[in-house]
Amino acid sequence: MTKNNLMNTYKRYDVNFEKGVGAKLYDVDGNEYLDFVAGVATNCLGHSNPVIINALLKQSAKLMHISNYYWNSNSINLAEILCQNSDHEKAFFCNSGTEAIEAALKLARKYGRLNGTEEKNKIIYMNNSFHGRTMGALTVTGQKKYKENFTPIMGGVDSVNFNDIEEIESIFNDNVCAVILEPIQGEGGVILAQIDYLRRVRELCDKYNSLLIFDEVQCGIGRTGSFFAYKKFGIIPDVVCMAKALGGGFPIGAIIANSKSCSAFVPGDHGTTFGGNPLACAVSCAVLTELIEGGIIDSVDEKSKYIFHKLNNLKQRYSVINEIRGMGLLIGMVMKIDSKTFVDECFNEGLLLVCAGENVVRLIPPLNITMDEINIAINILEKVLLKFC
Ligand SMILES: *Cc1c(COP(=O)(O)O)cnc(C)c1O
Repeated sequence: MTKNNLMNTYKRYDVNFEKGVGAKLYDVDGNEYLDFVAGVATNCLGHSNPVIINALLKQSAKLMHISNYYWNSNSINLAEILCQNSDHEKAFFCNSGTEAIEAALKLARKYGRLNGTEEKNKIIYMNNSFHGRTMGALTVTGQKKYKENFTPIMGGVDSVNFNDIEEIESIFNDNVCAVILEPIQGEGGVILAQIDYLRRVRELCDKYNSLLIFDEVQCGIGRTGSFFAYKKFGIIPDVVCMAKALGGGFPIGAIIANSKSCSAFVPGDHGTTFGGNPLACAVSCAVLTELIEGGIIDSVDEKSKYIFHKLNNLKQRYSVINEIRGMGLLIGMVMKIDSKTFVDECFNEGLLLVCAGENVVRLIPPLNITMDEINIAINILEKVLLKFC
C-alpha cells in the first residue's frame, strides 16, 4: 500500500486503525489500544456504539440528503433538543467546528451592522486560542504557528490576553461587534477561563451591545459534565459554537444563538449545502438523546473526580508532572519533560493521548469510559512515568 497520495498535512503515528469498540481501538495487525483521544473529543460514546449505528442505518435507508430549500424533521428535532438544553432560541447547522466559527463571525458582523454603524465590525479574540483552519477562524486563532504562512487574513480583529480583565477593558468600545473565546482553551493547553473574567467580558458585551461567542467545539456536549460548558461557568453567551462530539463521530457542526442575536440572519445571509442534512441530524439526535437520557453526561462528574484523584496521586509521586488541570473529562497533565516524548511512550504501551499547548498531555476519553478503563490508563501512565524517573 502506497501512502504517497495523501497530502502532507498531518504528522501521523505509524499505525493503521481498522475497527473500534467502546474505548478500544484495533489496528490492522490486531493490536489493541485504549483510546484517550476519542477523535479529539469527538467520539463521546466510544466506537461502534449501537445507538449511533442504528440511527445511521435507519436514516440512511430513508433519506440522506435533500437541500435547505426544503424542511426535514430531523433538523427541526435537533434544533429543538439544542434549544431545550440551552438558553438559546435558534440553531444553524453546518459540518465542522471551523464552519460553526465562520457562522458565528458572520452573525456577529451582521449584528454589528444592524445595531451600530459600518464601523461596528471589530471582533476581539484571545491569545493562545484555537478556532479552526478556515480563513475566518484562523484570523481569530491566537497562535502564530497556525496563521503566519497564510497572511493576509481577515481584517477587523484585535487580540487580547486570555483572563486579563484590564486589557480587554482598555480596548473595548462601540465598534466591537463580538468577543470570541473558548471557556476552556483546548488546543492551547487545557486552560480554564476565570469566572471573574467571563463575568466582566459579559458585562462589557452588554454595555457596548456586542455579542459574546463561546467556542464550545471541544468543551461542549457533555465534556465538562454539563451539556454546555458555559453552564459550569454560570455565564451565558449570546452564541455557542459546537461540533466535535455533536455527531459522536459523524461530521456535524452548529451554532445556537439567543433571541437578541439570532434574528440578525435572514434568508440569503448564510448557508451550506450539507448543513442540517437528515442523516447527520438523525445521528446527532440519537447521540444527544443517549448522552442525556442514558445518563452519560450525569456520570461525567464522578468519573472526573476519580481520574483527577488518581492523576493528582501520580503527580505527588512523580515530579515530572507539574500540574493537573481541566474540567470534567477534558484534562491536561502539565509536564516538566517533553510532552510529545511522553505521549509517544504511552502510544508504545497501547494508550492513545494527545499533546496540547506547551508541554501539556491531554486526556479526553469517550464520556462513557468505564472506571476499569480509567484504571488501565492510570496503570499505563505510571509505567511510562517510571521510565522518566
Ligand atoms: C477542533 C476545534 C475547532 C475546529 O473544528 P474542526 O471541526 O476541526 O473544523 C474549533 N474550535 C475548537 C475549540 C476546537 O477544539
